[in-house]
Amino acid sequence: MKIEISERLKKLPPYLFVEIDRAKKRAREEGRDIVDLGIGDPDTPTPQFIIDALNEAVKDASTHRYALDAGLLELRKEIAIWYKSRFDVDLDPQTEILPLIGSKEGIAHMPLAFINPGDAALVPDPCYPPYKSGNIFCEGDVRLMPLVEKNGFLPDLKGIDASLADRARVIYLNYPNNPTSACAGLDFFKDVVRFAQKHNIMVCHDAAYTELAYDNTRPPSFLNAPGSKELGVEFHSLSKTFNMTGWRIGFVVGNKDMVSAIARVKSNIDSGIFAAIQRAGIAALRNYHEHIKGLRDFYQKRRDALCDGLISIGWKVPKPQATFYVWAKCLKGYDSIGLARHFLDNADIVTTPGVGFGHYGEGYIRMAITVGEDRIREAVDRIKKVI
Ligand SMILES: *Cc1c(COP(=O)(O)O)cnc(C)c1O
Repeated sequence: MKIEISERLKKLPPYLFVEIDRAKKRAREEGRDIVDLGIGDPDTPTPQFIIDALNEAVKDASTHRYALDAGLLELRKEIAIWYKSRFDVDLDPQTEILPLIGSKEGIAHMPLAFINPGDAALVPDPCYPPYKSGNIFCEGDVRLMPLVEKNGFLPDLKGIDASLADRARVIYLNYPNNPTSACAGLDFFKDVVRFAQKHNIMVCHDAAYTELAYDNTRPPSFLNAPGSKELGVEFHSLSKTFNMTGWRIGFVVGNKDMVSAIARVKSNIDSGIFAAIQRAGIAALRNYHEHIKGLRDFYQKRRDALCDGLISIGWKVPKPQATFYVWAKCLKGYDSIGLARHFLDNADIVTTPGVGFGHYGEGYIRMAITVGEDRIREAVDRIKKVI
């Protein structure tokens, strides 16, 4: 029998990263010493106190059963305490907080709650891929908002056609941003609330990187904007903040009707997050203040090593205020795939071509500081020889 995939699956954009992975694997098999600046995944282990909390929790057999789909109340309460202390935002643990199996899970499932076939979704480009794919799975009409340098990589809300804005059901935002590393201020979020009120649009803000911020920058929450809770939600994750990408734990907070609709979708798809991991998540959030400074200092040193290094060899890259990505303009004569290929073939360095995040990512490559400082210096030395 010939297996036919659905039209939805056929409509997904090609996943360029699979291609890059293959090239990287081939290079490693050839025995080359690769510096991998490609992946946005912390290279250092989860802090010991979180591992200890998991170990304790796992010994308790009550964690072995299906977890309630709304998440442990104790975890939701801890998330509320953290939001209050970090952002001064009040959240009701009963109605305004929903733990997720990683924020990607919630982001990708959210359109099932709100998008009917043909409904428009405003999605930034370049962007984290699930904003697009989640809507394509629901036969939504993905409309792109270009993120360009002259607007500080913020979408130009005034430039969005009024008839499109009136038709749109949801707008996606992500600050600090992957892949551009741009930050948004509270004024921008206030503009977003006004825009969303005017056109009756739900807001979905992905805040995965608010805690990886440098030089004393403290990125705001979307929920700091007055009126935001009437029309939007914010996705958060323990993945980057606590080096927990493999654990799969995140959460969505904000508008209670949106949160409860996402919960209804999820209750039909999954059966909760392993309770022991939820308890480890509680331990992580409880120790956030002691933990986070070290992590910020750690990435800030790496960022300085990469940016100062590249600037010293004549490549004018911007220094990100947040995230662990450097979004660099391609060198003269190269497009993004060409430059990534040049670095891989001639310097044994993996980077991510900007076009992999969307059409408007062309002209840039993304370098992740998820390797040690010595390897970053090695990368700079190698780049120097091939530019
Ligand atoms: C890493 C990342 C996340 C976090 O995903 P999890 O599923 O929580 O691990 C969310 N959004 C963006 C933009 C990311 O880069």
